[in-house]
Amino acid sequence: MPRPILATIHTDALRNNLQVARRAAPQARHWAVVKANAYGHGIARVFEGLRGADGFALLDLDEAQRVRDLGWRGPVLLLEGVFEPRDLELCSRLDLWHTVHCSEQIDWLAAHKTHLGHRVFLKMNSGMNRLGFTPERYRAAWTRLSALPQVDEISLMTHFSDADGPRGIAHQMAVFNQATQDVPGERTVSNSAATLRYALGQQGGANAVPELVSDWVRPGIAIYGSAPDYPQHTATQWGLQPTMSLAAKIIAVQDLACGATVGYGSSFTAEQPMRIGVVACGYADGYPRLCPTGTPVLVDGVRTRTVGRVSMDMITVDLSPVPHAGTGSKVTLWGRTPGGAVLSIDEVAACAGSVGYELMCALAQRVPVEVLE
Ligand SMILES: *Cc1c(COP(=O)(O)O)cnc(C)c1O
Repeated sequence: MPRPILATIHTDALRNNLQVARRAAPQARHWAVVKANAYGHGIARVFEGLRGADGFALLDLDEAQRVRDLGWRGPVLLLEGVFEPRDLELCSRLDLWHTVHCSEQIDWLAAHKTHLGHRVFLKMNSGMNRLGFTPERYRAAWTRLSALPQVDEISLMTHFSDADGPRGIAHQMAVFNQATQDVPGERTVSNSAATLRYALGQQGGANAVPELVSDWVRPGIAIYGSAPDYPQHTATQWGLQPTMSLAAKIIAVQDLACGATVGYGSSFTAEQPMRIGVVACGYADGYPRLCPTGTPVLVDGVRTRTVGRVSMDMITVDLSPVPHAGTGSKVTLWGRTPGGAVLSIDEVAACAGSVGYELMCALAQRVPVEVLE
C-alpha cells in the first residue's frame, strides 16, 4: 500500500475563485497566473478548472509549451519575457506574448528574424525596483519598440509592491499614469490583492482607486483560494475556496503520561495524560518544518493542534478533542474535508511565519495528487 498521504486539487474551487476575481473586475480580461507549475498544483491539473480564463500567464518556457500542449490556443504571457535571444523563436512558434522589461530584450527583438509580429507587454518599474523601465526611460523604450517590424502591438504593464498592505497602490498608480498619459495600448497592473482590494463595490471598495484602469488583470494566489491579504481578510471573507487539500492518515497512537515528551528535541511535554496521533506527513512532503506546537490540523474533520517538532516523514497531533480517532483516521493538514470542514492554508502558513503561496509551491514531488472534477 502507498504511504497514506494525498493532495487533492479541487476543480470546482478553481472555477469559483476565477469567478470571484471576475466579479471584482468584470470589465477586465483575466489572466490565470500559472507560474511555478500553477503554484504547485500542476498546470495540467488546474487546466480544466481555469480554462474559463482569458489567458494564461507564467514565466517558464517549458510551462508555456505545456499550456499549448494542453490545447490552449488563446493568449499566453511570459511575465518576465525571454531570458535569451533564442527564446524568441519559441515565442514566434508558440505565439507567446512576452513582457519586455529591459533594453537587452529590445536588442534581441530587433535582431530576431520573424515574419510574425509579436505582442509585447512593456513593463514599467513604478517603484518596486525589480523589473521594468523607470518612468523616465519608459517612453523611449516604447518608441524604440514601436519602430520594430517584429512588434505588432505594445501593451503597458506594471506590478505593485504593496497591494496587500497599508502602503497600497496609489503612489505607483500615480507614477504609472503620469508616465503613460498619452502612450496608447492596453494596460495591465493588478495582481490578486489589487484586483480584490481596489475593486469598486468589493469589501476593499472603500479603498477604490478610480484611476486604476486595467484591460487585463493578473490574479494568481486568489484563484488558488488563498487570501492575498491574510490576515486582514480570510479567504472565506473573499468568497475564495481552497483548491489544494493535503490530507494524510494517523499511522500510530501514543498514550502519554504526564511529563512525557514528544519528538526530536523533546520540544513538547505533556502536562497531563493525553493521546497523540502520529501522522504520515512531514517536511519532506512540504509541510513546513517551522510549524510550532499548536499549529491547527483537522482530525476526522475536528480541529486540533500539532504537538512537538515536525520531522521529515511525520508530525504528531493532539487527539484530546477527538477521543474516537485512532490509527487510520484522516488528518487534513490544509484545505477541505469531504465533510466540508475547511482549514485555511493561510492559517497554517502564518504559524510557520510564511504565506499560502510558499506552502502550495512546496508541495513535494513524493505526494500523490488526485484531481476532483
Ligand atoms: C506572480 C505574479 C502575479 C500574480 O500575483 P498574485 O499575488 O499571486 O496574485 C501577477 N503579476 C506578476 C507580474 C506576477 O509575477
